[in-house]
Amino acid sequence: MRVLVFAAHPDDELIGVGGTIARLSQEGNEVLVVIFSRGGGGVAAEERLGEEEVEEARDAETAAVARLLGFRHRILGVREIIDRREAVKEAVRLVREFKPHLVFTHSPWDHHHLHVSVSKVTTEAVWQASTRAYGQLGEPWRAGAVYYYEVWDLFTKPHLLVDITPQLEVKVEAMKLYRTQLKVFPGITEYLRSLARVRGYLAGVEYAEAFLRSDSLPSVASSGAPFPRPPAAP
Ligand SMILES: [Zn+2]
Repeated sequence: MRVLVFAAHPDDELIGVGGTIARLSQEGNEVLVVIFSRGGGGVAAEERLGEEEVEEARDAETAAVARLLGFRHRILGVREIIDRREAVKEAVRLVREFKPHLVFTHSPWDHHHLHVSVSKVTTEAVWQASTRAYGQLGEPWRAGAVYYYEVWDLFTKPHLLVDITPQLEVKVEAMKLYRTQLKVFPGITEYLRSLARVRGYLAGVEYAEAFLRSDSLPSVASSGAPFPRPPAAP
């Protein structure tokens, strides 16, 4: 299976879906993480770094996290999504090139404007990629499912809980590799551990990550074909 993860900043992929990425990678799936911003604004005052220096530091941190969790990554390096059509086209191109079976992206219900923009652009792109539009950007590709992940704004009723009990420690270790972010978000490793415990409680396991299924790609019950199967019970 090919799995595509969209993230606004380096570390969003880890906070939201890092345990699941590690698990999918360990299970032999190919994971590509596409990060929109290099995160130049994400630095604590005491670091006394300029925006470029922060971006360089975070690029290196992301490479180390990618090695630990077992994903390939691409950093697009946008500071803002100004031209939404261009961003959709870029994401359509990526989807048609990589041909993901499963996509994870930000939730549209989020405090951060770039998280919301990435959510809107990528869910539209996954849909556009499945149509005959943007024929210059490759053949249509329909992903199997799109899931939203949690960063700071939590889901009341998640649709999918993924058991990450064996991956929890590697998720926490990976967070420590995002060294610049430990000062921006004091207590972040404890947050990751505690949220995974809360989600695990709901799933009946020790640690889990929670997702909402996006309605950007509706399931289709074709005439004469079996009805789509509901998700398996835990
Ligand atoms: Zn972010």
